[in-house]
Amino acid sequence: MKQSQFKEKPACAETKKAAPSEAVCPKCGAVNEMWSDETEVKCSSCGQQVVKTP
Ligand SMILES: [Zn+2]
Repeated sequence: MKQSQFKEKPACAETKKAAPSEAVCPKCGAVNEMWSDETEVKCSSCGQQVVKTP
């Protein structure tokens, strides 16, 4: 899985800019939004560091 900008999400009217991808927390399973310029994000649920998977 390299580039998967558009999975099965309905195309919103504005997808010109970078769309956030989903990063699933390995600890609690919460889905966090991660922007393309980010490589890691702090889980909004438990605070676990979630690293983007290539
Ligand atoms: Zn979490």
